[in-house]
Amino acid sequence: MADWLDFLFPRDCAATGEALGEDAPGHLGARGAAALPRIGDPRCLRCGQPFFGALLADRACPRCADMDEGFGRAVCAFRSRDLARELIHRAKYRGEPQLIDDLCRAALSDPVFARHLSGSTLVPVPLHPERLRERGFDQAERAARSLAAGLPGCRVRLLLERRRRTRQQARLRRRERQENLDDAFGLAPGAGVPAGERLVVVDDVLTTGATLASAARVLVAAGARRVDAAALAHG
Ligand SMILES: [Zn+2]
Repeated sequence: MADWLDFLFPRDCAATGEALGEDAPGHLGARGAAALPRIGDPRCLRCGQPFFGALLADRACPRCADMDEGFGRAVCAFRSRDLARELIHRAKYRGEPQLIDDLCRAALSDPVFARHLSGSTLVPVPLHPERLRERGFDQAERAARSLAAGLPGCRVRLLLERRRRTRQQARLRRRERQENLDDAFGLAPGAGVPAGERLVVVDDVLTTGATLASAARVLVAAGARRVDAAALAHG
C-alpha cells in the first residue's frame, strides 16, 4: 500500500527537496534531519537552552533565573531558528501539519530528549477553540501524540483547556506576561490529575517559558506533585 502511495504521490524531503526512498519514514530525509539546529549539552537544566557558563545554584542559567514558577525542568530538541523554525512555521501556517511528526521523530533521536519524556504522561498546552478552528489542528496535541507514539510507556492526556485567548508572550515584560496568562488555562471539564504519573506539559516552542509554566501551575494546583516541560524548539 505504501509503495503504491509513493508511486502515486512521490515524497520529497521537506528540507532538501530530494526524493525520499520507500523506506524513509515521513517527509524528512537523513540530510534534512541532519540540518536541524539541535540543542546539545551543555544546556540549562531549567529552561533547556544551550548554555556554556556556570549554572546557578538551582542549576538554572541567569537568563531563566527569574522565569515564572511552574514546571521543574524543560528540555527542548532544537533551537527555534533556521530549518526547525521554518518547518514549525510551515506546519502551523502553511497547511503542512505532518511536519510536526517529522520534527518529533528527529527530536526522539536525541537521547536526552527521549529520556526526559520516557514513561511520562504528556499533557499538551491547548489552543483556544477559536484559534483551533482557524488553524484546523492543534500543534501541541499533534506533537504530544506523535512523541507518545514513538516512546514506549508514554501516554497523552488532555487535562487542560484554554479559557482565554492570549497575546503573543514574546514581546511582553514578565509582569505583563503573568497578567496576560492569569486564568488562561484551567482543568478540562471532568479532568483530574492521575495519581502516580509524572506529567510533562508539551508545546511546540518554548520562548519565555511563561505559557508552559502557567499550564503547569494548573496541574500542580490540581494535585500533581511534579510537572516538567518539553518543547520541540527553544527560542
Ligand atoms: Zn535557563
